[in-house]
Amino acid sequence: MGFNVLVVNCGSSSIKYQVFDMTDERVLAQGLMDRVGIPGTKLTHKRENGTADTIIQKDMSDHSQGIKLVLETLTSAEHGVIKDLAEIKAVGHRVVHGADYFAGSVLINAEVKQVIQDCFDIAPLHNPPNLMGIEACQYLMPDIPHVAVFDTAFHQTMEPAHYMYALPYELYEKYKVRRYGFHGTSHYYVTQRAAALLNKALEDTKIITLHLGNGASMAAIDGGKVINTSMGYTPLEGLVMGTRCGDIDPYLVIFIMEKLNLNPDEVNDYLNKKSGALGLSGVSSDFRDITEAAEAGNQRAQLTLQVYVNRVKFYIGAYMALLNGCDGIVFTAGLGENAIDIREMICEDLGFLGIKIDKEKNKTRGKEVDVADDDSRVRILVIPTNEELVIARDTYTISKA
Ligand code: ADP
Repeated sequence: MGFNVLVVNCGSSSIKYQVFDMTDERVLAQGLMDRVGIPGTKLTHKRENGTADTIIQKDMSDHSQGIKLVLETLTSAEHGVIKDLAEIKAVGHRVVHGADYFAGSVLINAEVKQVIQDCFDIAPLHNPPNLMGIEACQYLMPDIPHVAVFDTAFHQTMEPAHYMYALPYELYEKYKVRRYGFHGTSHYYVTQRAAALLNKALEDTKIITLHLGNGASMAAIDGGKVINTSMGYTPLEGLVMGTRCGDIDPYLVIFIMEKLNLNPDEVNDYLNKKSGALGLSGVSSDFRDITEAAEAGNQRAQLTLQVYVNRVKFYIGAYMALLNGCDGIVFTAGLGENAIDIREMICEDLGFLGIKIDKEKNKTRGKEVDVADDDSRVRILVIPTNEELVIARDTYTISKA
């Protein structure tokens, strides 16, 4: 019989899931529940080879109700892929923040849950729903292993010289204030694939990974180990994102609070949800809309794309210096995989660094491909990410051990 793993990713108002049969890593079903805890909950569920998505609309007051409906859907005669919950052998949970406690995935026990809770302060938007998802799944499937896979884990190889901020040292000692980095599961997945595509041993590979989605981060990776990454103590630092500002002069936080009369929660919201590409363009947080507006002549949309691209270029240069050279840069996530024009803009005029894109090869979406010019010293790889597969594999390995 197959070994089915359920992968669960609970956000503040969403539940994403996939069911894998680990004997051949097939995805049996996947889905997304939106507006959990808000009126208008919608579950979009798709079975392997399913031609159409199943939509179930039924208000869910919290994550535990939501998870229950997901499990009912997975086992239902009409939409299901398994007969009985007993066919799920383990559950893998995405957890955003593991601070410096976890450098890899772990079997969830009371101690692990306590640590996830201890990190509520540093990840108030993410860790509470992550833990709710774990509790709900453990309640409904008490007899199987549950595994936590942390977004921060892969970045734990960073050295203090790269993760410390120039703030009084007590802040680090008392509150663990340092760079952590996020999207680690994605950076890890594309790193492995990049080494394979470059046909090099991971130990001898220097790459720069660009996870450009709604949230966006880059990492400098030497021999499979993260040297530095653009997100910091929280996922607000670094690149320009859909609604997050990324790097700004820290004094501006004080300035904005004073001028707009905002309290800490409000300024947090302002920088995380109203800034970034949305705030600068005034068009949308979605780069498809911004690109369309830019093409139609909207100057703020054009400016937003330029600011976005310049920030990415800035980090490519910085990471080239930190790595002392580089074999490949990797584009992944929503924009990285699909935004042809933005990839081209990022790679433009980087010939001095040995980065030359082939504009014809670059006309590709969602496939693993090297889009560099034949004489580019640095390869330019497009690699669709697969965080769920990494979670499923870790869960399988840890559950079998
Ligand atoms: P998340 O961080 O929410 O997982 P994704 O990795 O799915 O996000 O990325 C979603 C974003 O990718 C969209 O908001 C959009 O900005 C961008 N995107 C997707 N396809 C394109 C495209 N063809 N052109 C430009 N941007 C795109």
